[in-house]
Amino acid sequence: MRDGDEWIVDGQKVWTTMAHVARWAILVARTDPSLPKHQGLSYFVCDMTDPGVDVRPLRQITGEAEFNEVFLSGVRIPDTDRLGAVGEGWKVATTTLMNERVTIGAHAAEREDGLIGAVTKTWRERPELRTPGLHDRLLRLWVDAEALRLTAERLRQGLAAGQPGPEGSAAKLTFATLNQAITGLDVELHGEEGLSYKDWTMRRPKDADWASRDAGFRYLRMKGNSIEGGTSEILRNIIADRIMQLPKEPRGDVDIPWKDLPR
Ligand SMILES: Cc1cc2nc3c(=O)[nH]c(=O)nc-3n(C[C@H](O)[C@H](O)[C@H](O)COP(=O)(O)OP(=O)(O)OC[C@H]3O[C@@H](n4cnc5c(N)ncnc54)[C@H](O)[C@@H]3O)c2cc1C
Repeated sequence: MRDGDEWIVDGQKVWTTMAHVARWAILVARTDPSLPKHQGLSYFVCDMTDPGVDVRPLRQITGEAEFNEVFLSGVRIPDTDRLGAVGEGWKVATTTLMNERVTIGAHAAEREDGLIGAVTKTWRERPELRTPGLHDRLLRLWVDAEALRLTAERLRQGLAAGQPGPEGSAAKLTFATLNQAITGLDVELHGEEGLSYKDWTMRRPKDADWASRDAGFRYLRMKGNSIEGGTSEILRNIIADRIMQLPKEPRGDVDIPWKDLPR
């Protein structure tokens, strides 16, 4: 709701990663419910120190609370903290999401960085765990991880010339699939040790440091990779629509005012 030079925001947002350490948040709020769902949204930068912002931990499958639910009660946002025109929030959010997917799926990395590095380190240091079958899978995943790293490098060089396109969705989809396959192999490689989960302490971490954790943590945490930053199903839809130019899925809700949509 607009009040002069300010907006007053009420609502709830689940799954907000690192909200407990964030000073600022992106807030896409519905400013006109009488318009269809992709219209009538506006994009704000929200000061997390506002007294109306309440951040509560959401405990994840790992035992930790990296993300949160955020309750907004009468939060006042100056109109100067709006990005883009009123009602153009979806357009601004789409640009943000395309950049987020590149950041997640196509970040700069050295060869054998991250999760593939963790599993190859175990392979080299623990010869007693090796089997021929696991060797074959490790080599295939190593090649896939290297192909993703080099593809990401090419994508980032292309980006230097402009905004990210839908290609970032392909990188993010591969990132999620690969991380889940690597961490599955990692648990199998550790045998019985891989099945034991050592530390169920409820923590609110300050950064996302996955590679230095044990195999059980990595396996559980990577389950979220195919949900966060756009689910793998939605990313496949984007690739089908925008890269492969396949016919769009039929949608019955794009022209209906948001307030009239069944919920
Ligand atoms: C670890 C983690 C961190 C997160 N951090 C943040 C954060 O910081 N900020 C934030 O805003 N959100 C965050 N999220 C939320 C995340 O972005 C959403 O959960 C995700 O985009 C899916 O939206 P949803 O939960 O509303 O599921 P829904 O959209 O309800 O989807 C439910 C299921 O239906 C499928 N589905 C939906 N529509 C279609 C379709 N058209 N075609 C095919 N399948 C479909 C989905 O793929 C999914 O499997 C986080 C989630 C996780 C797991």
